[in-house]
Amino acid sequence: MARQPKKTGNSGGQDLLEDFKRICRRTGIRVTHQRLEIFQALVRSHGHPAAESIYAEVKIRVPTISLDTVYRTLNTLAQHGVLMKLQLDTRARFDTNLEPHHHFVCKECKGIVDFDWSELDEMKPPRNAARLGRIDLKYLELRGICNRCLEARNKLKR
Ligand SMILES: [Zn+2]
Ligand SMILES: [Zn+2]
Repeated sequence: MARQPKKTGNSGGQDLLEDFKRICRRTGIRVTHQRLEIFQALVRSHGHPAAESIYAEVKIRVPTISLDTVYRTLNTLAQHGVLMKLQLDTRARFDTNLEPHHHFVCKECKGIVDFDWSELDEMKPPRNAARLGRIDLKYLELRGICNRCLEARNKLKR
């Protein structure tokens, strides 16, 4: 059976915006201008940015915004399940892709790239893990060096 590529969250900005408003309504958080701008900056970034880069992006459109507001907004949205907060080393990174997916993390450029692994999604956790408590999220993080960084390394060697 051919594997259907899953819809990735970062592909359709408009759909995501509708999802955003819907989740906000459902969870009872107000859709404010600032929250919308922050969410849109996150969608436009096509990656898993840290709060600082979202702040730099939003500040162009909303010059009065503070980094603290961006931090607080991102945390509020993450708490309500509007986006996902990841902890990479000491920094938080944010993800608008709420579909089940996994991450490849480059230890050199700290890039995070989504990938699908349907076989893993279908697998049940082992019994010794299942008996530890309720499992809400099954997620895998692969760490390594991305192709771009490998290429840059090879160029240096030459
Ligand atoms: Zn890299
Ligand atoms: Zn992701």
